[in-house]
Amino acid sequence: MQFQEFKIDNLEGFPKELERLLAKQLDSIDKITKSDDISYAGVLKPLQDLDEELENFFTPLSHLNSVENSEETQKAYELSLPQLSKFSSTIAQNEELFHKIKKITSTDLEAKKVIENDIRGFVLAGAELPLEHKKELEEIDMRLSELSNIFSQNLLDATNEFEMIIEDKKDVAEIPASDLAQAKTEIDGKTVYKFTLQIPSYLAYMTYGTNRKYRQEISKAYVSRAPKNSDVIDELLKLKYKKAQLLGFDSFAEYSLATKDANSIDDVTNFLEELGDKALPKAKEELEELKEFALRIDGIDDLHGYDVAYYSEKLKKEKFDFDDSMTKPYFEQSKVLRGLLDVVSELFDVEFREVEVKVWNKKVKTFDIYRVGELAGRIYFDLEARKEKRGGAWMHDWETHFVDSKGEQHLPSAFIVCNFSLSTDDTPSLLRHDDVVTLFHEMGHGIHHLFGKCNERSISGINGVAWDVVEFPSQFLEAFAYEKPILKRFAFHYETNEPMSDELLDKIKDTKNYQASLGILRQVEFSLFDFNLHKKLYQGDEVQELLDGIRKKTSLLPVPKYNKFQNGFAHIFAGGYSAGYYSYKWAEVLSADAFFECIDENGFNQEKADGYQKYILNRGGSEEMSELYKKWLGREPKVESLLKLYGIEV
Ligand SMILES: [Zn+2]
Repeated sequence: MQFQEFKIDNLEGFPKELERLLAKQLDSIDKITKSDDISYAGVLKPLQDLDEELENFFTPLSHLNSVENSEETQKAYELSLPQLSKFSSTIAQNEELFHKIKKITSTDLEAKKVIENDIRGFVLAGAELPLEHKKELEEIDMRLSELSNIFSQNLLDATNEFEMIIEDKKDVAEIPASDLAQAKTEIDGKTVYKFTLQIPSYLAYMTYGTNRKYRQEISKAYVSRAPKNSDVIDELLKLKYKKAQLLGFDSFAEYSLATKDANSIDDVTNFLEELGDKALPKAKEELEELKEFALRIDGIDDLHGYDVAYYSEKLKKEKFDFDDSMTKPYFEQSKVLRGLLDVVSELFDVEFREVEVKVWNKKVKTFDIYRVGELAGRIYFDLEARKEKRGGAWMHDWETHFVDSKGEQHLPSAFIVCNFSLSTDDTPSLLRHDDVVTLFHEMGHGIHHLFGKCNERSISGINGVAWDVVEFPSQFLEAFAYEKPILKRFAFHYETNEPMSDELLDKIKDTKNYQASLGILRQVEFSLFDFNLHKKLYQGDEVQELLDGIRKKTSLLPVPKYNKFQNGFAHIFAGGYSAGYYSYKWAEVLSADAFFECIDENGFNQEKADGYQKYILNRGGSEEMSELYKKWLGREPKVESLLKLYGIEV
């Protein structure tokens, strides 16, 4: 099969075309549902063809809306979304189809997994519940989404409510010029500096604010935001608990794990506790060093939470004397990209050939991927910032590798999008080291999708990969971006072509590891709080008591009573991370462990990299990731590898 051509001829007519496509698909689904055929080939194969058809059609619009946003794309997108959500809920409620899928059997491993996932999807949407419970579930889901919104809104209002005005210039003497320019304002003809709880402003004062009293003030405002949210939390917890019970689970944590790689409540809890225990001794040392430093330079003998960012930054400067501007001239965008493609080519024995195809912007670079001389996929890089592009960086999968119901093979394609600095005719785009890391990270997601070799679409590439392991391949590749031998391949000064010095290369890694144990401990605190909170029903003061209990171990400084961190924990109360925040670290253990297998002193361990490709990248969501991992290495990943990645010895 050829790749799709990237184009939308008629944006205005797009929603109408979508309407026609969805109607046609519903018709096909209806025919499949009503037929007597209960074979995999007669039901689930054609259903996956339809998925690909819809994805191929819709992705150009959703992509365009993110990277070349305009009133036209917005309009087409807004008119399309409700159609899509109606379409998917129609399918989720198609019980006839559900009962039919339950009858399908197959001896093929991939097909079995597809059947299993589909049934699970229906069951978790309530397909097996009696009518009254179905209604109840629907009401709970509606109220849950309202509550998430209220939580965010309360947080936003509280964030916008506060401001801190500083008049004396010496209290802002250490704030970097760009942050200071943002803070500078006039009140009654007088120049003052205004700091708010918006993250950049808040962090600027916490990190560089000279006056301790002001640090305390803004910190207190930040951690005591949105007290109204404590009631919202109670209701959210109650409804999530109820939802889990309706669907036959003991707790929401158990419900959450039903679709994740982690197998049991104990597995997750033990993992988090082990990680916390192992990071603790080093974290104590890191904090001791910081306390000594604050005492030495400012006579502070009672270091508080609101001092940590400020003294950490100063200590970092004293230890490393290092910032982005020193490495930036060595990371020229096109060289970095070439370097990345070379690394991936070597590791996984593929070839990238640049091709001229239809794209949405002239800066986009497209490559076809060849494996042993055979065309295997296509990747688009859209790396530079522009005002029509949404911020951040991401990988967006378009086509998927699979074999359709006619026996035809489809090849995968994906977009890598970043927001790097602009190149012009006379100046190249120069990247911060963080940007280099981002590019490697997104490429990690990219090859997870593009190197997928499954025949069944819904488990091929990144499809069907459990949520707590999707960041595994991305963080795996990211780890390479800190390694000297890797960076040496492309870090050359853009004017002199001088290679980056060993001293700078060392600093890149050392600064990554700076205070890493304290960072891990903090993530463990958030993860344990989130996970334990969903193990049974907690209400009112019990929520705070749970958090206090966890902090006894994870918080090395006393936490003031006014700290109500939970009221701002939007990830779990307004986002999709409930009983899933542990995923970050869970996936990172796999990444770190796999990374150390694939490198050795001389460079890459080719045999292990082959295995990584064969067992992990090629297999997509065809089996549980932990199973695939065991098949690859014959063992489970080690928590120690994660600590080793940050230079922590245990
Ligand atoms: Zn990612």
